[in-house]
Amino acid sequence: MEKRLMRLGRRELLLMGVAMLAGCSAPALTVLNEEEVPAKAQGFKRDANTVDRKRFPSFKPGEICATCRLAIAAQAGDYMCSVFPGRSVPAQGWCAAFEVKT
Ligand code: SF4
Repeated sequence: MEKRLMRLGRRELLLMGVAMLAGCSAPALTVLNEEEVPAKAQGFKRDANTVDRKRFPSFKPGEICATCRLAIAAQAGDYMCSVFPGRSVPAQGWCAAFEVKT
């Protein structure tokens, strides 16, 4: 009887482990839109070629999310960005928080 309880315990533990692993999948990112307030505040553009050079005179061509220290490659060419948690930004994007990857 005691062995039977131990076996059931192991099985339950295994099922719990599987359930926990299933719940630990990476969070889905939603696309960051230029019109959103936090994006506007940082001058975010999905295409760095459209950056407002008058508003952001320090912008230099070649500064894009793909070369930013704050970006982490995420899914299908998009990046996770620590400035916009839970959101995805495109490789060719840019915002005023850009920092050169060293
Ligand atoms: S902080 Fe970097 S990765 Fe994030 S949006 Fe701005 S330029 Fe792109």
